[in-house]
Amino acid sequence: MTDAILQFLGLWALTYALTFGTYLAFGWAFTVWSQRHPERKIQPKRDGQKRRNTEIRASARSLIVTCGCFAAGLFCSLNGYTLFEPLAMTWWSFPLMVGVSIVLFDGWFYIVHRLGHTGMFKKYHLLHHQSVAPTVWSNYSDTWFDAWTQQGFFFVMPVILPFAWPVFVAHRVFDHFNGMIGHSGFEFAAGPSSRTPWPLASVTFHDMHHSTFNYNYANHFSFWDRVFGTIHPDYDTRCAAMEEKINAATAEPSKAVPTR
Ligand SMILES: [Zn+2]
Ligand SMILES: [Zn+2]
Repeated sequence: MTDAILQFLGLWALTYALTFGTYLAFGWAFTVWSQRHPERKIQPKRDGQKRRNTEIRASARSLIVTCGCFAAGLFCSLNGYTLFEPLAMTWWSFPLMVGVSIVLFDGWFYIVHRLGHTGMFKKYHLLHHQSVAPTVWSNYSDTWFDAWTQQGFFFVMPVILPFAWPVFVAHRVFDHFNGMIGHSGFEFAAGPSSRTPWPLASVTFHDMHHSTFNYNYANHFSFWDRVFGTIHPDYDTRCAAMEEKINAATAEPSKAVPTR
């Protein structure tokens, strides 16, 4: 029993150290790099970096829950506390299972995120929305309610899906960096695949959730928002405009907006 508790605490501490450490390192490197790319900034008139220290402190707190959920799922998986035997991992089944996990997470995220915008739950989600112009620091600027409901996926799914633990490690690493880039306020993914009729989402997608509040609830794909009519009516137009602006600046660097 003591050994099991120590194993869980060790996994929790390791997950936290790796997550928070890479959050700080990547956040710093991204901030330095992005200063050279003003043409990619989605809300040029707002300076989200003013909230950097507040968001780092909030992230340090909420990551305790996020990493606890992940460590609990990993602990269950490593010790066989699962409903099914894990499927074999091969060169093709591993990426397929990671893909399935990502698609399932997007549906999970859509549901719990909409819950955070509903009635009595709103007050637990408002902290995340204090970042009107999100930055790379905003991804984990959450309450414990947000962390539990959203990242609880990584506790529940290893128990009920026949996927071995490396699948969830790969998914979580993807979600970690994708979440930071998705909040960065700088566009990288605007293109035909992130607009109608394709289901992928650009950085502008979640940035508009922060600047307009009641649209674009999903995480990786625009699919659920299109199905339930919660996609921002200007999303496709804004996405195309960002693509055009970046292409124009790349083709003619002199047209790029100066940094200062
Ligand atoms: Zn929200
Ligand atoms: Zn957000």
